[in-house]
Amino acid sequence: MSIEVKSRFAVFSDVHANLAALQKFLKDAQARGIEQYFCLGDIVGYGPRPNECCEIVREMDIPVVLGNHDYACLHEEDRLHFNDIARQAIEWTADQLNAENREWLSSLPCRIDAGDYTFVHASACKPSEWTYVISRKDVDDCFEAFQNSVCFIGHSHQPFVVIEDDKGQMQFPEQQTIQKKGVYRYLVNVGSIGQPRDQDARLCYFLVDQTESLMSFIRVDYPIEETQKEINAAGLPIQLANRIEKGW
Ligand code: ZN
Repeated sequence: MSIEVKSRFAVFSDVHANLAALQKFLKDAQARGIEQYFCLGDIVGYGPRPNECCEIVREMDIPVVLGNHDYACLHEEDRLHFNDIARQAIEWTADQLNAENREWLSSLPCRIDAGDYTFVHASACKPSEWTYVISRKDVDDCFEAFQNSVCFIGHSHQPFVVIEDDKGQMQFPEQQTIQKKGVYRYLVNVGSIGQPRDQDARLCYFLVDQTESLMSFIRVDYPIEETQKEINAAGLPIQLANRIEKGW
């Protein structure tokens, strides 16, 4: 099935069952005239509202790829490499998820290619192994594994852009908005909706305007204390409530 990519679209990742953040993101994106959405997975895990977040994203009927927390909630044997706090949240989530949402999560692919774009949760290089793109070698491996102009990733919850210019040199721009050039290729980590980890607690997503050739990170405040209350009420580890306030 080929997906037609519209002029103005948003890419978001790592909602992590943070309903207040998801709702605020959708409101903000709608106000900016977004015509299409792509989701890079980890809809659940860590956060207190897994079923509601699955239902919202499911009903949006958009392209979604699978994340490692989504997968681990469905597969008990895959939880050993998570730290204690993440694993406790995954076990709690696995108990909460209803049959419909489990079935939907288990149907998600690990990679989607649409138009001139590639969408994965972790890295285009062996996406189902959930490799983090941290080192220069990870960046090179990822670039080698896609042919399109842009590859969107999530997973680390830390937004960044790497540009491969027309001479094959890598650039690491710092600005929030980038003018997209046809001869360059891009690797974009879109950050996280539900648990940002770049010392900025505001939710983060990525907006592409194909008509203007502009690509931007968008940061938005959301009612963090609502999610913190829900984390505490659910009996999830207190560290999960603390970290979303600090953005780590
Ligand atoms: Zn994640």
